[in-house]
Order: sequence, then C-alpha cells, then structure tokens
Amino acid sequence: MSAAPGEFELIERIRRRVVARGDVVLGIGDDAALLAPPPGRQLVVAMDTLNAGVHFPLGTPAADIGWKALAVNLSDLAAMGAAPAWCTLSLSMPEADARWLDGFLDGFSMLAAMHDIALVGGDTTRGPLSVCVTAHGFVGPGRALRRDGARLGDDVWVSGTPGDAAAGLVLAGIAAAGVDRIEASTEDRDALAFRLARPQPRVALGAALAGVAHSCIDISDGLLADAAHIGRASGAALRIDVDALPASAALARSADTDTRRLLQAAGGDDYELCFTAPASARDAIDAMARECGVPVTRVGDVTAGEGVRPVDAEGRHWQPARTGYQHFAADQR
Ligand code: ADP
Ligand code: MG
Repeated sequence: MSAAPGEFELIERIRRRVVARGDVVLGIGDDAALLAPPPGRQLVVAMDTLNAGVHFPLGTPAADIGWKALAVNLSDLAAMGAAPAWCTLSLSMPEADARWLDGFLDGFSMLAAMHDIALVGGDTTRGPLSVCVTAHGFVGPGRALRRDGARLGDDVWVSGTPGDAAAGLVLAGIAAAGVDRIEASTEDRDALAFRLARPQPRVALGAALAGVAHSCIDISDGLLADAAHIGRASGAALRIDVDALPASAALARSADTDTRRLLQAAGGDDYELCFTAPASARDAIDAMARECGVPVTRVGDVTAGEGVRPVDAEGRHWQPARTGYQHFAADQR
C-alpha cells in the first residue's frame, strides 16, 4: 500500500482538474486568488455546506457528493440570475484518501466544465467529512432576481418537474415531506434516484430570466417553503395550484395523488427555480425556456396576503402537515 498523500499532493490533484478562465489572474497555489471582475457588473456570492450524515447519507458515492456540492451553489447563482465565474472549496476529510478525492473531483469537475466555473482556491483540512463551496458570479446592475420583487398579479412559475428528488429520497429509505413509502419500477427508481444524486442547476434559465422575472428562488427546501420566502419578502401571497405542478413520468407512475402533491409541494432537493413574472412576459419566458431546454410551467399567481397559499385544482385550500425542511426543527434532528 502506498503512503497516504499529504495535503500538498491532495491540492495538486485538485489543481490539475480546474477549468481554465481568462479572468483568473492567479488561481490555486498562492496565498489567495487574484481575479479580474468584468467592469460594470455586480458580483454575486453564494455559499453552501454539505455535511456527511446531514445533507447526504454516509455511503454516498464521492462523485455524487462532488457534483452536488457545486450544484447547490450554482443553483443559488441561477436563482439570482447570475452567470457563474469562480468558486472556492473547503474540504474537510477524516483521512487523506486520494481515491475518494479523485471520485469527488469527477463529479465536481464535470459540472464545473458544463458551467465554465473555475475553482480558484480553498482549504483542505482533517475532520469529519464536510464540503463547503462558495460560488461567485456576475449580473448586470438592477437585473438580479431577488426574493422581494414579486408584484400583485404576477404569474408564479416553476421549472422542471418538482418532487422527483424527494421521491428518490423516499425510495432510498429516508422519509420526505411526510411520505415514507412509495412503490416504483426499477426503471423509475433509477430515474428518481438520479434526480436526487445529480440535480441540474438551472443556470442558463436563471441568467435568461434576469431583468425579466420580478422575483426568483431555487427550490432546495420544498416548493411551498421556498415560495413562502418570496411571498414574505415581497409582502404578498403566492397562490400555488398543487395540481398544476408538472410531474415527471416516473413520479406520476410511482405516486397516488396525495403522495404526489406532498412530494411536489413539500419535498426539497430538486433545485428547480420558482419565479414570478408579469403576464406580459409569458411568451418571452416560454421562448427562453425552449432555448435553455428546460420546461417551465405556470402554477399560480401572486395575490394579496403573506407567504404562500396552496390550493387544489378546484381552488380549495390544501395544507400539507409540513411545508419543507428546516435545520434545527424539533422533529428533524
Ligand atoms: P495557506 O496556508 O496560505 O492558506 P494552503 O496550503 O491552505 O495555503 O493552500 C495552498 C493553495 O491551495 C491556496 O492557493 C489555496 O487556495 C489552495 N487550496 C487549498 N485547498 C484547496 C481546495 N480544497 N480546493 C482548492 N484549492 C485549495
Ligand atoms: Mg489555507
């Protein structure tokens, strides 16, 4: 057996896999990175941590962890309408495991290349497995998609097919959105597990919506919980028809109506976008979505009130037992 690699060898393994960008004057290797921000644009910064046992089960493949650690941060940039540029990575590992690191980098680097984001620095330490990424991007002044911009009468939209990742969790034996069991064929199981393992951050869609949508958030904790953030920040209520939510074929085949509503309205981890926009922008948004290759669906409207107002197809109030994941909530520790 070869000796465990030292910190510098690990960092060198990381450095070899980095995407090259012209605006990185000095990347990994010095005391800090030296970067050339484009003139006239606003810097958007996001940070998200993944802890073993909290954000992913202990046996999760390293490549899936690498993908997800970057995906959740790209999703935050997307939700702001920002174009990704740079990221940093703080990696805490119980031991210097080069094979694990290479697997991690397979997932991380594949997604980084897809979105042209350069890893420009970080920190490597010994400790419980934990991955923290910061992502940096740019948006034109006044064009960022904020939570506080929804206006009365706006349409409420979602991208993709929410609920798949939560279904993937349930199939992996972890209850989500109050659902602890669903039945799925092997093929559907694989499709739903993949949606959980490899969320696709809606980067191109978010950037296209900048300056068009009035507000936006990415759905990490559950559609209703996250939509309520827009509602509260904007002083309005997002009325959402839980029967208008588009379901993937795999989810539709695997869940009855009640289960599907719960997973789609209250399940997290999809990293789709929920946004509001004026009715006058409908055609433009449909065209953008086609161009980005991401389906978008109108699922409600912005009304007077505060937070979120879930309704069924008949317009009757619909309330799940729990609306989304919250760290430190008494029943989720
Ligand atoms: P210092 O002791 O000056 O903080 P380090 O030895 O921690 O330097 O890091 C050396 C270089 O390697 C720095 O440029 C740092 O940003 C980079 N680096 C360290 N760990 C990582 C990592 N996990 N991912 C990316 N870059 C890293
Ligand atoms: Mg350091």
